[in-house]
Amino acid sequence: TMSFEINEDRSPNTKPLHFLLVPLLAQGHMIPMVDLARLLAARGNLVTFATTPINLARIQPIVERAAAAASAASTLQIRFIELRFCVADAGLPDGCENIDLLPSMDLLFPFLKSLHLLRDPLEAHLQAPDPFQWPRPACLISDNIQNWTIDFARALDIPRLTFQGPSCFYLICDLLINRHVVELEAAMAAASGGPIILPGLAQPIRISKHELMLTLRSDPNWFKLIETMNEMEETSEGIIINSFVELESLYIEKYHEEIGKPIWPVGPLSLYNEEDDAKEVRGRVSSIDNKFLLQWLDGKEPGSVVLVSFGSIAHNTMEQIVEIGHGLEASAWPFVWVVKEAAEGALVSGLGEWMTAFEKRVEGKGIVIKGWAPQTILLNHIAVGGFVTHCGWNSTLEAIAAGVVMATWPHFGDQFFNERLVVDVLKIGVAVGVEKPTMFGVENDNEAAVVKVRRGEVEKVVEMLMEGGDEGKERRERARELKKKARMAMEKGGSSWKGLQDVINYVLESQKNKN
Ligand code: UDP
Repeated sequence: TMSFEINEDRSPNTKPLHFLLVPLLAQGHMIPMVDLARLLAARGNLVTFATTPINLARIQPIVERAAAAASAASTLQIRFIELRFCVADAGLPDGCENIDLLPSMDLLFPFLKSLHLLRDPLEAHLQAPDPFQWPRPACLISDNIQNWTIDFARALDIPRLTFQGPSCFYLICDLLINRHVVELEAAMAAASGGPIILPGLAQPIRISKHELMLTLRSDPNWFKLIETMNEMEETSEGIIINSFVELESLYIEKYHEEIGKPIWPVGPLSLYNEEDDAKEVRGRVSSIDNKFLLQWLDGKEPGSVVLVSFGSIAHNTMEQIVEIGHGLEASAWPFVWVVKEAAEGALVSGLGEWMTAFEKRVEGKGIVIKGWAPQTILLNHIAVGGFVTHCGWNSTLEAIAAGVVMATWPHFGDQFFNERLVVDVLKIGVAVGVEKPTMFGVENDNEAAVVKVRRGEVEKVVEMLMEGGDEGKERRERARELKKKARMAMEKGGSSWKGLQDVINYVLESQKNKN
């Protein structure tokens, strides 16, 4: 197992630094930042983690453990603070405190615009008398979308660092696309919409029309969001990324070269959670009895089970879910299939009945998790040999850290770029072959989007993933190598371990310069 000893790198006379963390209220952003908070605390720092009541309730076991530790003044010094987030003020329905709780994507922009409402309660918290008498924050680390933190950090007169959720591969592609818009659009037209090569990268990266469009949103709301994110990047003193040098060094270097400020890879952050009980409470409480799940997996051959999951936001239509089910049923491999839509009856009607019959038919061969799965536990179980994923960056990196090969099925956003990284650059995955995005909330808008992948294709891709001849073997071998590198990066003295130390040193330096 890996060692994350407490206070190991700090001389007893150094005063602890206080980090203030402001995540985005979305699972894919909160989960890695909770890990980051715990890692910073494990290096002897004090951490205040700003969140809201509903988000806090989801990670209650982590919060309780941290609270016990804080009062014992011994181990991890993290305080999770509950900011009252009045969503009604922003015209949002009650309880919409996380992107995965929005009933429709129409509410995404109102939600993002409402985030600045966190500012006043956070300010009030910092001004209130502190029973623990922590020093004032020395650094603010905020998600790339929390743009009110720019002024907030200025008012506190402390450095602000940005936490970037996506892969560095995506960040640099996105940046290059935005810089070369005109030529890329012309090249795309000349290629009649066919794939083109992205300029400026050592390795040729093929992008298609929707990837180009993705970063060039014509919608004014998206445009504004991109401007916000650019402003966040420009005004931050450095960028923390959930990645590791050995995984995408070319892209990390290039990104650094382009933006000219420190980039600190500190991941895979999921590896901080070594014990099963820590993995169990990542993000939310599991919707299945984990003991039962583990026993079931224990009964399967090593590397024989395929895990199918699409993250916390991407949704599939009823028709698509049925096709996936039939594909898995026909395939030779046992499976664990996460169907969050089955826990949200209102969104997909008729699913409950279909699922009951399906589960009966596949009893013994497959398990359906209706809601939230303990994903890192699953990925790290020896029986799990392949992962059909929507390519959210956290899921992708968790699979890499677990040495599991992927079948890539992107739905929207950076997921299409992560697919290129996994399939073309790292060569540890096979593409399901999806070419057009499916946005949450508008899955049914477009005829062609109702079913993207037919049952026969699902069956075929699972076979390629789990078997796949010599190429399959090579993919699995490469995935095993990357897993080793990922763990080495996080071990004491490894590249990501140093990355986090560099963040801490940066803040120490900036404090010294002020005094
Ligand atoms: N996750 C999980 N159980 C689920 C669905 C998601 O534990 O049933 C976790 C997953 O391990 C990852 C995060 O939620 O840490 C999802 O982030 P990602 O970037 O993969 O996708 P997003 O949800 O942002 O699309």
